[in-house]
Amino acid sequence: MSDNNIDKIVVQFKPRYMMTNFNAFGYCKNDTIEIRKDLSLPVKLSILTHEFYHYFDKKSKFREIRAILAQLVYPIVGFIWIIVLSLNRDRIELWKKRIFK
Ligand SMILES: [Zn+2]
Repeated sequence: MSDNNIDKIVVQFKPRYMMTNFNAFGYCKNDTIEIRKDLSLPVKLSILTHEFYHYFDKKSKFREIRAILAQLVYPIVGFIWIIVLSLNRDRIELWKKRIFK
């Protein structure tokens, strides 16, 4: 995976007939990700994770398998890591304000 120094990625939600690949749920090319507009929010988020992984993955072999595994694992790994990074006074105060006010 390349570095994750992103300046801008454009996410476009498109009807199926406007997708670059008619049978794809998502598509990533250069700095643009396409997601099919008619999918439910959970599916859109999952596809976004998959396509986002493709954006960073510059290897040529097993690209699809790596993206599928990332789609499966990254959301929970990311959430656990957020909890770990939030174990400090400032973050806990922020959470308290957001949750209880
Ligand atoms: Zn893919």
